[in-house]
Amino acid sequence: MYLSIALVGTQIPLLNYLGYEFSLVVASTGSLIAGILTIVAVRRVCSSVEGAAFDSRNALIAFREMLLLNLVLLGVPLAVISGNALFIKNCSYFEGLAFYILLPVVSVWFASCLGIFCAVHYRLAKTVFFLFLLATLVYAALLGYFTPAIYSYNFFYGYFPGFSYDEILGIGAPLIFFRIFTLLLGGFLLWLSVILLNSSTPADPTWKKGLRLLEVLVLPQRIPFTAAIVVALALTYAFRCDLGFETTDRFVRRTLGEEYRSEHFLLYYSRASYTDEEIRCIAAGHEFRLSQILSVFVLRQHPLIESYVYPSAEVKRRLIGAGTTNIAKPWLRQIHMTKQSMDATLKHELVHVVAGQFGLPIIQASLSTGLVEGLAMAVEWDFGNRTLHQYAAGIKASGLAPDIGSILTPAGFAVQSSSRCCCFPSTAMRARRRCTSPMWPRASRSPVARTILGWCVPWFRWRRSCCLDRRATLTIQPRCSRRPPIAHI
Ligand SMILES: [Zn+2]
Repeated sequence: MYLSIALVGTQIPLLNYLGYEFSLVVASTGSLIAGILTIVAVRRVCSSVEGAAFDSRNALIAFREMLLLNLVLLGVPLAVISGNALFIKNCSYFEGLAFYILLPVVSVWFASCLGIFCAVHYRLAKTVFFLFLLATLVYAALLGYFTPAIYSYNFFYGYFPGFSYDEILGIGAPLIFFRIFTLLLGGFLLWLSVILLNSSTPADPTWKKGLRLLEVLVLPQRIPFTAAIVVALALTYAFRCDLGFETTDRFVRRTLGEEYRSEHFLLYYSRASYTDEEIRCIAAGHEFRLSQILSVFVLRQHPLIESYVYPSAEVKRRLIGAGTTNIAKPWLRQIHMTKQSMDATLKHELVHVVAGQFGLPIIQASLSTGLVEGLAMAVEWDFGNRTLHQYAAGIKASGLAPDIGSILTPAGFAVQSSSRCCCFPSTAMRARRRCTSPMWPRASRSPVARTILGWCVPWFRWRRSCCLDRRATLTIQPRCSRRPPIAHI
């Protein structure tokens, strides 16, 4: 399994050298393998002898053997990918090695410890293991949905920086602290497992083992240690934002420090960034851009939008995970920008929030990233030193034009150049006299229509007329030409 992951990885860009992405894949699969192998091995020992004949040391020996086996097996993908370095240039082999230690090695330790705890405590050990894994994934997804952050830390996959265009991904102090915490939590689970092995028999029911475990933990000689662990866990949770493990809205607002309210916006900013007069100008700029977008979408009003303006890319990266990439969360009606790049991206990010009214429920956007980004660029219509029509014409003339049908699928945008992918849907939408679509006007009428049309968007059949004429304009016309235009651009 480890060998096949490494061999497949050598054929895939980003996974073909020792770095963060390769470590992430090995950590995710390695956790599963280590957890399951440990459960199977410990269970085999526990079920082979009954009652008084059971020796807890055998279970610990099985755990140790499995842990060693999995750590040795981690050497297989490391050896393969290191060998591949002869063919693929590594930017920084030693940073990749550090990622490999911080992600797969620590994850295998944690999963093995969780594996032995599940094996000795629960009758359905594998089910509990998977439920715990699932719960951590759901928790990470909820953080991404309800908080401004796009990154997440996890005991199994280690660290996920979120989807952004940021190219810098280094090893920061929060990652090191979180993996130290993961190591300690694994040790705590192993300690609980030893207590269970010494104070109960494998045949005892789960509830009886649980009660026995609690009894042992509150014994007079153990109370100080137990209390110290509980306090340490509580403090880690209470200071999780300060440690960099998570970021809540409240923490971002507290860190930025200042807020300003205008008719449609609540701006959060740093006192060092703007004076009182400057922030009034910034808010007026927000209102102006919003009024432009509302007129494009033929909308009269819009609910309050939260705009977070960070003093620098470093502060933004530390707080939400994306540094140079500005982001919008339409479902929270939030935009996040740095002070330096705000002028260039404010309108673009606001389009994402306003267009959220026509998106699918819950995510307030289309599943088609090409459509979402294409629409924002079509309204923004400001990119480099040429029009998007000219860029599209140039790309087409060079023979590099992507298939517009494929880039409108949910996955299509992710696997192709984003600059090329944004260009084509936006030129198509901009050519308003020919480009019409059933999705935007109708999508706003009912949740059911929004859902169905949102799903249909990726498979919307574009009939390409591709009128690449001497004026270097490209027109892409969808089939339903009697529909009203998407927007008055
Ligand atoms: Zn965008």
